[in-house]
Amino acid sequence: MQEITHIPDHTTRARMVSLLRESAAVVAFTGAGISTESGIPDYRGPQGRWTTGKVPNIRNVSFDLESRQRYWSERRKHFDFMASREPNAGHKALVDLYRQDKLIGIITQNIDGLHQKAGMPAELVAELHGSEHWLKCLANGHLIEAATIRPLVEAGDLDPRCPICGSPLRASTVLFGEALPDAAFRQAERWAQAADLMIVVGSSLVVNPAALLPVIARRHGARLVIVNREPTPLDPIADVVANSEAGPTLSVWVAELAEARP
Ligand code: NAD
Repeated sequence: MQEITHIPDHTTRARMVSLLRESAAVVAFTGAGISTESGIPDYRGPQGRWTTGKVPNIRNVSFDLESRQRYWSERRKHFDFMASREPNAGHKALVDLYRQDKLIGIITQNIDGLHQKAGMPAELVAELHGSEHWLKCLANGHLIEAATIRPLVEAGDLDPRCPICGSPLRASTVLFGEALPDAAFRQAERWAQAADLMIVVGSSLVVNPAALLPVIARRHGARLVIVNREPTPLDPIADVVANSEAGPTLSVWVAELAEARP
């Protein structure tokens, strides 16, 4: 059983810094674990919904009127919580890496939008599982910004419609059992192939096909660093594994990179 520490030991950090120094095309692959320090629970950690409740999947969600009304009634209670969540040290450290011209893109399994809120340009974030900030209409798949629908729901409309075609709206997030958005996955594959270093942060790496991306990166010659509280199935192919906290680990790592600059 590996010990979970706040930040990795000196030797591991030194190795991480030297990998960063040698890299020019870093790609981050993030999961729910990078956002737990922002107060958003993960699925498979000890407090995760995987064991404590049901995760929404394509079989237990239907899109009839009653289930849509239930969805909007639940979502109405969480608008303020969703809007108030802030990026943490981990999200910010990745933005620092981008500003130092190291990071070329972030592939994320998260739907919370915190990478963009921390300052990453939206076009440099591939959201493999969609975004809770966007809705999709059932008839034509039009993408509608959730914030524009909030006032309608708060005024009591529990079956808001697409402003373009009038069909019912659903969350744009990918349910278990649904296909990933094609454009985001293709972008993620391109980045995985172009990376010379991939940093996995806060992912159990058990949800496929997303978890194949670090393998693709490795096969194309990238080095691999995994920062996760718990061991993952890809630890054996990683150059460095840090079983530590995402925010403190990434911020110390990026700060030490800056100090190590000539
Ligand atoms: P996961 O829940 O399967 O795994 C998260 C991993 O992060 C766990 O192994 C856990 O030990 C680790 N972890 C938790 N907090 C950490 C921390 N502070 N530092 C380091 N490691 C930490 O997450 P996943 O691999 O992203 O897959 C679950 C699916 O659930 C994703 O597809 C995602 O769409 C969805 N999800 C998203 C959010 C979000 O948007 N924030 C939250 C929950 C679930």
